[in-house]
Amino acid sequence: MQNKYYIETFGCQMNVHESEKIAGMLEALGYSPAATRDDANVIVFNTCCIRDTAEQKISGNIGELKALKREDKSRIVVIAGCMTQQKGAAEALAAKFPFIDIVLGTANLYELPAKIAELKERRARHRGKVVAISYDDNPPIDESVPVARTSYPNAWVNITYGCNNFCTYCIVPYVRGRERSREPEAIIDEIRSLLAEGYKEITLLGQNVDSYGSDRSDGVGFAELLRRIAALPGKFRLRFMTSHPKDLSEEVVSIIAETPNFCKNIHLPVQAGSDRILKAMNRKYDRAAYLGLIDKIRKYMPECGLTTDIMVGFPGETEEDFLDTVDLVKRVRYQNAFTFVYSPRRGTVAATMPDQIPYAVKRDRITRLIAVQNAITEELSGEFTGKTYEVLVEDAPKPGMLCGRTDSGRLVNFAGDRSLVGQFVDIRITGNKASALYGEIVDNG
Ligand code: SF4
Repeated sequence: MQNKYYIETFGCQMNVHESEKIAGMLEALGYSPAATRDDANVIVFNTCCIRDTAEQKISGNIGELKALKREDKSRIVVIAGCMTQQKGAAEALAAKFPFIDIVLGTANLYELPAKIAELKERRARHRGKVVAISYDDNPPIDESVPVARTSYPNAWVNITYGCNNFCTYCIVPYVRGRERSREPEAIIDEIRSLLAEGYKEITLLGQNVDSYGSDRSDGVGFAELLRRIAALPGKFRLRFMTSHPKDLSEEVVSIIAETPNFCKNIHLPVQAGSDRILKAMNRKYDRAAYLGLIDKIRKYMPECGLTTDIMVGFPGETEEDFLDTVDLVKRVRYQNAFTFVYSPRRGTVAATMPDQIPYAVKRDRITRLIAVQNAITEELSGEFTGKTYEVLVEDAPKPGMLCGRTDSGRLVNFAGDRSLVGQFVDIRITGNKASALYGEIVDNG
């Protein structure tokens, strides 16, 4: 079997981009991508532990690799990502799944090539697996990791790693360490070379992009970084995720509004609409401040596509608290919302809080919330019909069909040839089905 790798990615965009780095490191070692796990010599699971359900699903998938390892003992099984970084998790994984060869933490992903070499050397001496976890909260940022990108015409670009916010329900600060900002020059150089390679959309990544530069002394914050990106020549689109309402500044909002290349599309997680719950979540803003920020965004960009994250069933959440959340959703009218049921994460503050909500109540609340949001999304989708929008063609999901997003982040499906992937086209919206928009290419002749 030729040297082939297969990466399974779980979780967020951060992990999607880190899997591109894992692929880049393996391709630099001479491996090429395999279509399935069965065809691969190196199988990497890039894991997530944001919710209990995510971890259980991943454990189930890891178990399935036992047969592949029995079939070919020379295979290398690597478990990486957030799941391994939780205290004691690496040892527990290694004990539960003895066929795992390498366990890599989030802070030392870049050690993969060295760990594969170490494993081969250990195997030659009939010695077992390699576990490489660094519990350093401020690990160095390795700018030399090769990247094999998979998201053309979009490219993911990290600007920060880690998080200092410690929302009481969140495991991220414990598995991704403290906030570290990349050098502004390194970010600008990366974007410049991506644009030169033909990428048309850049998505800046960070757990909290608005606090970019807060750990640096050169005074380059998120607003200044955006100004430097705005100065880059050519037509391209810029998006970013994820913003934190306590740090998103009016200055940043005004820069997005005045810069044609910057998409009028902001993902602003609110999590809850009740001040009591926001306080218990340690979100560091209240309902009034959040709604004030929404009003400010809409003052600068009335057409801005707003999305959010909302959690129901946080410990102690009363029916009244929940109705505050529903009321906020009705007032903001998001184009879409990612809704979650609170799930206790071992090691977080909220997991030990009293008044954990029964699952039946959580399920009832999430069902009601989704119904409210879906109705709003449907109404807003209807307002697109008959209008024409510029769309960046992102993919050809099936023969003769293309899809792409408007500047405000709405996904549009339309007929066309895959040769248009990576092009900007004008689309007249002809209709919608729930949140999916449909349209036709406008021939500008
Ligand atoms: S801002 Fe809060 S929810 Fe987001 S990653 Fe940081 S701790 Fe988690």
